[in-house]
Amino acid sequence: MRKKIIAGNWKMNKTLSEGIALASEVANMANDEVSSDVNLILCTPAIHLAPVSSVIKDVANVSAAAQNISEHESGAYTGDISADMVLSTGAKYVILGHSERREYHNETNAQLADRVKLALDKGLTPIFCCGESLETRESGEHVNFVNNQLKESLHHLSAEEMSKVVIAYEPIWAIGTGVTASSDQAQEMHKSIRTALADQFGAEVADGISILYGGSMKPANAQELLTQPDVDGGLIGGASLKARDFIDIAKSY
Ligand code: PEP
Repeated sequence: MRKKIIAGNWKMNKTLSEGIALASEVANMANDEVSSDVNLILCTPAIHLAPVSSVIKDVANVSAAAQNISEHESGAYTGDISADMVLSTGAKYVILGHSERREYHNETNAQLADRVKLALDKGLTPIFCCGESLETRESGEHVNFVNNQLKESLHHLSAEEMSKVVIAYEPIWAIGTGVTASSDQAQEMHKSIRTALADQFGAEVADGISILYGGSMKPANAQELLTQPDVDGGLIGGASLKARDFIDIAKSY
């Protein structure tokens, strides 16, 4: 059975006190309303991770995640955050390769390959993001493009390592735009990702990997997306900043 995951990417939003308030609202609502087989992940700014981890510690199905880590273990990398630092806050997951990081910080597939491996070696679960631009989709190359992202950043892993990775398919044209991929478009790509993972790592590993959809998911469209056979969860940006919307998405399976 694949894990159901609803992850909220807060991006660069919320002051510390606002973030703590949001996390505690989510934790309370999750306790009261969300099925225990749905895993909620709060992907917060790095400075929020320790206090948020403390706020959510008694709610079994809510975890914290970083939005990035360095590919280096430690050292002279001013402004960067290491896997060990993230783990020391109590966080269990890390987003890697979000399209905003790829675009604004020039993160490459090769760099992400190193980060995924380091995260796994340290015991952090990567949420590896992939997805194509509108131009690539319109050229008909979207499947090849995403397969290449998987190949260049994940194919160096063993099957056992890969079984611990979470994938988030996030078409760039749907992120923060209000335009959502249709359920057919999402299912087509998720199935193709699972097939590509099966070819490389075997069907058993591919069947166990949670593939999340990200891109303008909200309460009004979550159910249609989450009931697709290969859509196991969501990575939510804007709608994760309101506890009510985030929880309503988590109740949409
Ligand atoms: C995201 O940032 O990963 C995302 C999916 O954002 P939004 O839900 O706002 O489109």
